[in-house]
Amino acid sequence: MFRENTCGELRASHVNLNTTLSGWVHKVRDKGFVVWVDLRDRYGITQLVFDEDRSPKSLLEKARELGRETVIMVNGGVIERASKNPNIPTGDIEVLVQKLEVLNPSQLPPFTIEDDTDGGEDIRMKYRYLDIRRNPVKNNLIFRHKVTMEVRKYLSEYGFIEVETPYLIKSTPEGARDFLVPSRMNAGQFYALPQSPQTFKQLLMVGGMDKYFQIVKCFRDEDLRADRQPEFTQIDCEMAFVEQDDVLYTFEGLTKHLLKEIHGLETGDFPKITYDEAMRKYGNDKPDIRFGMEFGELNSVAQHRAFNVFNSAELVVGIAVPGGASYTRKEIDKLIDWVKRPQVGAMGMVYVKCNEDGTFKSSVDKFYDQNDLQKWAENTGAQSGDLICVLSGKIKETRSQLSALRMEMAERLGLRKPDEFAPLWVVDFPLLELDEETGNYHAMHHPFTSPKPGQIEVLDTDPGAVRANAYDLVLNGNEIGGGSIRIHDKEIQATMFKHLGFTPEQAKAQFGFLMDAFQYGAPPHGGIAFGLDRLVAILGGQETIRDFIAFPKNNSGRDVMIDAPSPIDEEQLKELSLKLDT
Ligand code: ASP
Repeated sequence: MFRENTCGELRASHVNLNTTLSGWVHKVRDKGFVVWVDLRDRYGITQLVFDEDRSPKSLLEKARELGRETVIMVNGGVIERASKNPNIPTGDIEVLVQKLEVLNPSQLPPFTIEDDTDGGEDIRMKYRYLDIRRNPVKNNLIFRHKVTMEVRKYLSEYGFIEVETPYLIKSTPEGARDFLVPSRMNAGQFYALPQSPQTFKQLLMVGGMDKYFQIVKCFRDEDLRADRQPEFTQIDCEMAFVEQDDVLYTFEGLTKHLLKEIHGLETGDFPKITYDEAMRKYGNDKPDIRFGMEFGELNSVAQHRAFNVFNSAELVVGIAVPGGASYTRKEIDKLIDWVKRPQVGAMGMVYVKCNEDGTFKSSVDKFYDQNDLQKWAENTGAQSGDLICVLSGKIKETRSQLSALRMEMAERLGLRKPDEFAPLWVVDFPLLELDEETGNYHAMHHPFTSPKPGQIEVLDTDPGAVRANAYDLVLNGNEIGGGSIRIHDKEIQATMFKHLGFTPEQAKAQFGFLMDAFQYGAPPHGGIAFGLDRLVAILGGQETIRDFIAFPKNNSGRDVMIDAPSPIDEEQLKELSLKLDT
């Protein structure tokens, strides 16, 4: 038997127990007549003691030689420690070792296995199995397990059935490129890895499964942005005979359940705003509402003077930064430089200091009087002591620039508290989105999303104005879930494909199976998918999803541990009927 207890288990109540432990040598402290070894496993650390008087002599020598991360098995008696360590749960005891067996020696690890390691990101990723021995990574994986268990528990309780859908499929457009897999047995033909199980879950509804979920890997070959993974995990869900509110209610329930089970938080009903309102108030379709700084539009109170920058702008809009009136000229200049960085892209920034005595001091005093500025303060909700930051220009760009500033200021002011959770539904997304480069419309969510009732006709006249039965769940400024009520009528689906630029033949070739299914009694249905990696990271009070994935890819989409992707040999290429032009 390798062990009778774990390294996290023994307490004062175990004194006198004879036990066997196995684990990794975390640290050796050699005091000559006595050697202490910290033995570690997933459950904790137990101190082992080898003592000149009380342990066999040869053991002391052996213990002294133990290298870090050696795997050992020991047997001995639990004794009370002379000097206790209140920082660890096993700190009251130690094990006086009588037998020691080295199960496997270890090379010196390339970084120390400590909470605060000396290893940089690259080296830790290359030796991820060693990184996983560290508490921060190990605890994140355990945390992820807990969240997943709670998801399974909740959904199963509400009658959802977990069904697996295939990974080798035909392309499903979710806005990204597919990862392709060549088929050896069908020369020249390819499977696609699913960007999501979207069409399959809809087919499960046609199949009468009624409530489906799956914790499932999805694959999207996107240009990598920071903290995106080419393969990621979704909690994918679908329900039949539902309207939008039924779906929102169910998954608000799931989210509340998670906040309660994981953090002990009771959350009230989630606020719901439309996409248009989110854009107007926050310049963003996934606003962080843990703090205010809502946008105040200023066109009506800023376009009546001789200030041409504002007069020629589509939108003049500002936010009130709490306490910002005390910023020095230098600090404000820095802020202006910040909004002018190419990543943000503003041309400049107008500011108004709201002085404690009720007066205003602005960078445009030449054009605006105190009454004007008073109105700006009213529109942005500024109080004395605040700084109003105003941007102007084209609507879309200006909103996104001010949104970036709002987030930056919140970060600087410590308003994005990781232990505070502010969920929000954003509803009524546009059905279609104009691709500025090609001038074509594409589906904002995906082509299976239904337009709002009575809007099909508008598709012909003003496609950009059509709103969809589509919704996102936003948590602390992150989209953690998104879904829609689907089209379940063959004709409407065909119309959608037409508007997305598919010929009837193309639509049939790619999605004939779905449209065929709609002819055999497809129930009204809808669903949602949560991004599990991000959900877990946010619930864990962090934003880096990589830290919650056992074996993540790096920012270039590489697994540096197994060295993938990598070339394959001629023979394999030939078998797959592939040729490389090199
Ligand atoms: N398949 C969608 C996605 O991956 C989610 C959904 O509509 O249920 O975003």
